[in-house]
Amino acid sequence: MLDLLVRNAVLPGGERVDIGVQDEKFAVLTPEVQQDAKISFNAEGLTVLSGLIDMHVHFNEPGNTHWEGVFTGSRAFAAGGGCVFVDMPLNSIPTTLDRTSLEFKKEAMKQSQTDYALWGGLTPINLDCLEELAEGGVIGFKAFMSDSGLPEFENVSPGVLHQGMERAAKLGLPVAVHAEDPQHLGAYRNMEDFTASRPIAAENSAVQIALDIARDTGCHLHLVHLSNVEAVMLALNAREQGVKVSIETCPHYLFFNEQDLLDQGVLLKCAPPLRPEVDRRMLLKAVEKGWVDVIGSDHSPAPPDMKRGDFAAAWGGISSVQTTLSVLLTLGLGFEQVQKLLSEHPALLLGMQEKGRLQVGLDADFLLLDPQEKVLTVGELQDRHRLNPYLSHGLRGRVLYNFVRGHPVYERGQFSSFTPKQIQRHPQGQRL
Ligand SMILES: [Zn+2]
Repeated sequence: MLDLLVRNAVLPGGERVDIGVQDEKFAVLTPEVQQDAKISFNAEGLTVLSGLIDMHVHFNEPGNTHWEGVFTGSRAFAAGGGCVFVDMPLNSIPTTLDRTSLEFKKEAMKQSQTDYALWGGLTPINLDCLEELAEGGVIGFKAFMSDSGLPEFENVSPGVLHQGMERAAKLGLPVAVHAEDPQHLGAYRNMEDFTASRPIAAENSAVQIALDIARDTGCHLHLVHLSNVEAVMLALNAREQGVKVSIETCPHYLFFNEQDLLDQGVLLKCAPPLRPEVDRRMLLKAVEKGWVDVIGSDHSPAPPDMKRGDFAAAWGGISSVQTTLSVLLTLGLGFEQVQKLLSEHPALLLGMQEKGRLQVGLDADFLLLDPQEKVLTVGELQDRHRLNPYLSHGLRGRVLYNFVRGHPVYERGQFSSFTPKQIQRHPQGQRL
């Protein structure tokens, strides 16, 4: 007997399907399943997609739970259709730089409403700790090429990045890089000169340096939050020459432009900054053409008093972990492409062999979606401070039900208790 049978869902391609789950795995995915099930449920034509994997969130726990925290952050993620988020190693106290801090992080993750994975940090002071972080199950390492904004998470010089990527390559893990070259970054006093202080040239220069190091070391380079198409092209050219590189961008670079930042102010402050409309359009084109591998939310919230007032002093980070799927659908991307960007590709890149697709034998991670468009209201949001910049925008698609390993984690605004699992790279997981 099946544990769960969801009838009459619609696949991304439009075909009808019944979804049977047993022992946390997809057991059957065909129309009109006749088997009995302990729990049966009619999805009435809702679209089924594979659960979302967000490679880039900052939940800030332990230490800065008042910024977000695992409990609220993971609930917002679950409400948006997520099955695994990958938490970044900065913004928590302590930062995740060694075995001990990794254990604190795992302890905090016990409150999670979904499965999770962890990035370890790569800074000038912890090169000798990368191995113990790998033993603790991190799926890769995150480094900043420019000032991270946090003195306790120092950025790397090209020389240190080279050493770190050499070690990461030996461990078989990727290095995720925030690519802005400090030599091209200027000072700014206000919103008007912020974008000019962090030009596209800074991003492209850092991307080229990181690509050269990836070529030298053979390490898988993951470029986080690329904000312009020239950086994407640099990475694609390098890939053609055999460099192992994956490309991420974020919903806000596809939805908003520089003018929106000037109109909305601090809420849309992020680094790299939002770009002119022409660049936004070209980046969206690149996504449509399949040149970008994954979309991460880069959910990076802060308390409201840090997201208002003086622009220069305000926190740079955007809160949108719940709305990634809806934003991409609103931008006109199709279900099949969205599923690749938000589920299949992240699973492949991170070696999560049992996740990322609607396929018999894999973890039964799936969401059921109402594809209609409606205005995003604050009452829908589940994150702590609900400073989502898409509020009041018409967004297409709402997740009504979300299942992680066959367990219902979210049903129409309600959450069920869930025991989360740390997802690690599968020993046989594909490598770039
Ligand atoms: Zn980030």
